[in-house]
Amino acid sequence: MDIIHLLPDSVANQIAAGEVIQRPASCLKELVENSLDAGATRIQVIVRDAGRTLLQVIDNGIGMSEMDARLAFERHATSKIREAQDLFSLRTMGFRGEALASICAVAQVEMTTRRAEDETGTLIEIHGSDVVRQEPCVCPVGTNIKVSNLFFNVPVRRKFLKTDQTELRNLLTEFYHIVLVYPKVNFTFVHNDEIILELPSGTEKQRIEAIFGNPKRNVYTSAFVEVNTETELVSIRGFVVKPENATRKAEQYFFVNGRYMRHPYFQKAVLTAYSGMLTADYQPSFFIYFDINPESIDVNIHPTKTEIKFADEQAIFQILMASVREALGKFTLAPTIDFDTRGAIDIPAPSTEHVSRPQVAVDPTYNPFHTRGTIYPDKTPQKWESLYEAPQSSRNIDIPEFRDAEMPLWQYNGKYIFVPGEEGLTMIHQHRAHVTVLYHRFLDQMTHAQGASQQLLFPEVISLSPDDMVLIEQITGDLRAIGFDLEQLSPDSYSIQGVPAQMADQSPVPVLQQIIEKVRSRGADTQSEWREQIALSLAQSTAIPLGKSLNEQEMRQIVGDLMQLPSHRLTPDGKTIVSLLTNEEIEKKF
Ligand code: ADP
Ligand code: MG
Repeated sequence: MDIIHLLPDSVANQIAAGEVIQRPASCLKELVENSLDAGATRIQVIVRDAGRTLLQVIDNGIGMSEMDARLAFERHATSKIREAQDLFSLRTMGFRGEALASICAVAQVEMTTRRAEDETGTLIEIHGSDVVRQEPCVCPVGTNIKVSNLFFNVPVRRKFLKTDQTELRNLLTEFYHIVLVYPKVNFTFVHNDEIILELPSGTEKQRIEAIFGNPKRNVYTSAFVEVNTETELVSIRGFVVKPENATRKAEQYFFVNGRYMRHPYFQKAVLTAYSGMLTADYQPSFFIYFDINPESIDVNIHPTKTEIKFADEQAIFQILMASVREALGKFTLAPTIDFDTRGAIDIPAPSTEHVSRPQVAVDPTYNPFHTRGTIYPDKTPQKWESLYEAPQSSRNIDIPEFRDAEMPLWQYNGKYIFVPGEEGLTMIHQHRAHVTVLYHRFLDQMTHAQGASQQLLFPEVISLSPDDMVLIEQITGDLRAIGFDLEQLSPDSYSIQGVPAQMADQSPVPVLQQIIEKVRSRGADTQSEWREQIALSLAQSTAIPLGKSLNEQEMRQIVGDLMQLPSHRLTPDGKTIVSLLTNEEIEKKF
């Protein structure tokens, strides 16, 4: 008996869908790219429940004929490529003819579409690859496609979806990647009947301003200088922030031939151009657009990958670095750039790890926010708990008989607290000790909602970008629990009326911005994850700084509090708090 048989189309499409449509954001990307390919000048995105129940894209593009409307949902149906070799000179967005087939395999799709030359349009409804309705209809020129109940027939995929807030942020990130390269196109983004973004047609600069403009993210275009370089190999344009306008939370975007790409190696080129000009922890925002002959890049065939391989990466690295340096040198007076050092800069070899062959594997954990974390040189996110478990060999160092109030202790160098004991001299890093004490206190307050709040005489206003608004909504409950008194003022701002008592004289806006940035950059998606990030960020902002002189009572308080913790060896982010100089080590020195 023969045992090989062809998979029914619906099954094949569902398998393909796993590859192309991983989450609402990937569906949105495909739909909007189709609208752009259709020459639309106005595109409306309407989303409900972060795309779970509805993702609708309305465009005024060329529309489809009755026949094409049906064909569009077949696999490998495309109007964009006829021969395999077209793949190499590709300039349109989609080209595999897979997106619509994949989407309709895992959702309920209703589409109306009409071309300018047709009097009536076509309505087509498809549920899980089955055409349930197709009829003429009255509709405007263009295409209106409504994707409902995504993954209704793939419970496993539905389960992989994160919270609405996270999925909405994913949608917005994907949306930014597209709208930043089509400033001439008018876009609207509506979520649950609320207009989140309204982007009129304009220049690239205006588009950047409309999304990230001051004071939403401190990325305001007056802080930018223009980069503009033409070479035979590549043309590079865009905007880079002046060194003095670098921020803790930066927006860093590369685009190549009108497509967003991630490129850690080129990112290094930009950072190298800034070397010596930035304060530690500060990052430059940039929006850089490459134009290059499509034949010299690896047209990556995988629709969900954002990495692109260039034939001549090292040369482009040099050109990019030089043009950013030149732009910075031209417009910034101080600090002056020492061009003599240019030759001395180490140019790292292109890393090959980010160049992956097109893969077919599904990565259900793919989340663009996790990749942002790599911008920051800190450790990769880890579970704090695991850091807390001291390795078997190194036990907690006992801080000697601390309950004995007679025990002498003193501050050294404005940084350390020294406590002599039987085994030797215990040295405690005062700032880290306090961070760790506060971290546990804040975590505890979030669990029990009991943080003390101090009302501000003059409430302050924090303005946020749409995706940060989504994020803050997600974490306000926990922020309130530790003493923030927040009230939403407008669709893009909150007023801060009270702060945790601990914050005393700190200015609340930067502290809150830092919390948001930490939660965002660490991709903290679950409540326990974001609580850890909030607690750590607030503890770092409010702990006693290095260099502050402490009186005896303050020292006893910190060391006493530290002793109460289950573990006092490491800070939540893994730094050493306590170290022991043993008696033998001291002896050996003489
Ligand atoms: P691809 O974009 O790779 O060609 P898709 O499955 O995304 O594949 O779309 C299939 C075809 O349907 C497209 O080639 C195009 O002809 C047509 N199409 C899809 N969306 C639109 C739209 N918004 N307006 C006009 N035509 C569209
Ligand atoms: Mg497409």
